[in-house]
Amino acid sequence: MLGSRARLSLPLLLPLRQMGTAAARTETVTRAVTGTVTGAGLREQGLPSVPLAFEDPRAFQVKTMGELLRALGVFQLCSFPVLVNHCGKLMSVARRLLGKRGFSLFLRPTVYRQFVAGENETEISHSMEKMSVLGLRPMLAVPIEEDLGESTGEKRYEDNMEAMLECVRMSHCNAWSKDPMMQLKVTALLSPELCVKLTTLMSEQPFDLDLLVRGLDGESISLRGLDEKENAHLVCGLRRINRIAEESVHKVRVLVDAEYTYMNPALSLLTTAMMKKFNKNDAWIWNTYQCYLKESRSLIQEAISVSQKEGFCLGVKLVRGAYMEKERKLAEKEGRLDPIHNSWEETNSSYNGSLNAVLEAISDQPGRYRIIVATHNEESVRLAAQRVEELGIDRDDGSVCFGQLLGMCDHVSLTLAKEGYSIYKSVPYGSVDDTLPYLVRRAQENRTVLQGIRKERDLLRQELHRRLRPRLTTAAV
Ligand SMILES: Cc1cc2nc3c(=O)[nH]c(=O)nc-3n(C[C@H](O)[C@H](O)[C@H](O)COP(=O)(O)OP(=O)(O)OC[C@H]3O[C@@H](n4cnc5c(N)ncnc54)[C@H](O)[C@@H]3O)c2cc1C
Repeated sequence: MLGSRARLSLPLLLPLRQMGTAAARTETVTRAVTGTVTGAGLREQGLPSVPLAFEDPRAFQVKTMGELLRALGVFQLCSFPVLVNHCGKLMSVARRLLGKRGFSLFLRPTVYRQFVAGENETEISHSMEKMSVLGLRPMLAVPIEEDLGESTGEKRYEDNMEAMLECVRMSHCNAWSKDPMMQLKVTALLSPELCVKLTTLMSEQPFDLDLLVRGLDGESISLRGLDEKENAHLVCGLRRINRIAEESVHKVRVLVDAEYTYMNPALSLLTTAMMKKFNKNDAWIWNTYQCYLKESRSLIQEAISVSQKEGFCLGVKLVRGAYMEKERKLAEKEGRLDPIHNSWEETNSSYNGSLNAVLEAISDQPGRYRIIVATHNEESVRLAAQRVEELGIDRDDGSVCFGQLLGMCDHVSLTLAKEGYSIYKSVPYGSVDDTLPYLVRRAQENRTVLQGIRKERDLLRQELHRRLRPRLTTAAV
């Protein structure tokens, strides 16, 4: 039986001035590594440094002129707060004015191409082959998710399952797939309302993990506290989740996304049941931990001990978290304590502390734990590389890899790839309409990943100047 709280349960946008200067942020991250706030950085603490320089514009030599200009243009647009703040509304107005086709013609060569791999398998394969040549591995993501009040019904969830099975097939069958990964959103397969109800029940009564495993096995389970209809929907959802896991095990690692705190405990419970069933000898199913949450450190510790007690391998996707603004607004509205750390610095400290804890677990028991350091934050990436070296973790055995989003911080991804690290890009695909909510979030995220994006823009400019200089000089002569 699991503990009664959502424990196992395990379960943005920032104005520029709040983010502080890049230098201040950099120092804070290095200080946050061990949780002490006294040193001025790792080197001063006598730790060896890893030569990961993310300063070299030549990382972009592999980009065509068109790709350079597009990236620069898109990041430039994202630097106007008024555009980013209202991009959801602006996009729907533009879609109404231009019509579906006109809007698609405008978006496809710009924002869509920057952040999305394509619409059909030919387009996706083309993008993936290019990435694979650069040493980057794709982690495909079907951008489907639901929030409260958007529930769509059993037929739609079945269609979503088919889309995810197709994603498993694409991830596995192509020449560009090497140790492939894909992302999965539970709310595409099970209603958010049920996830919220499960989360509430978890805070009131203990949950039997084995019962959920039996549900995955196809048994018609019934959970106390759910009515007949809800139980029936849970059984269908578990069947869908199980089908995807069965299809992917030994082929594709499935990374379950974390979403909002009001449903995360239920998502984690279901993911833990999947891990118990499918991760006996290797981590095929992974869970996501959002380090902006005050409780994230204890959730990670708990996940490690549950995995030991229940005897399964643990896969960890470590992120800072993407829903800060909405979480904060909701907590304020409901008069609850804000679940998010009070500052970016505290989130960094939490991220780096959890990173360290998982790396130590990997070094103690290689093969039982795996982690993807899913961040654009250079200092966290450097810290991970450094600790891998210090703890003597094999760089090539796949237990530690890195992840960034397609179209973001390529200078980090390409540098890591050049240094021989396993690096994945999270790659959404689908039509312009299907990926619109994702694109809006990406535009907004460009504000929170401020340091990385500013740096990427500067490096892109330098590379552009490097290419144009000879032409301008010749023209002048
Ligand atoms: C491969 C991949 C998979 C991902 N999957 C998920 C997922 O499943 N679920 C999910 O929620 N997100 C996910 N994300 C997004 C992620 O959580 C972050 O939103 C994004 O990566 C930016 O964080 P960073 O560490 O890259 O950048 P940084 O610039 O170092 O940090 C920005 C982040 O810090 C936090 N932050 C900023 N300001 C403050 C503040 N004032 N107080 C407290 N915290 C603050 C926020 O989380 C913000 O997003 C994923 C990202 C990647 C690369």
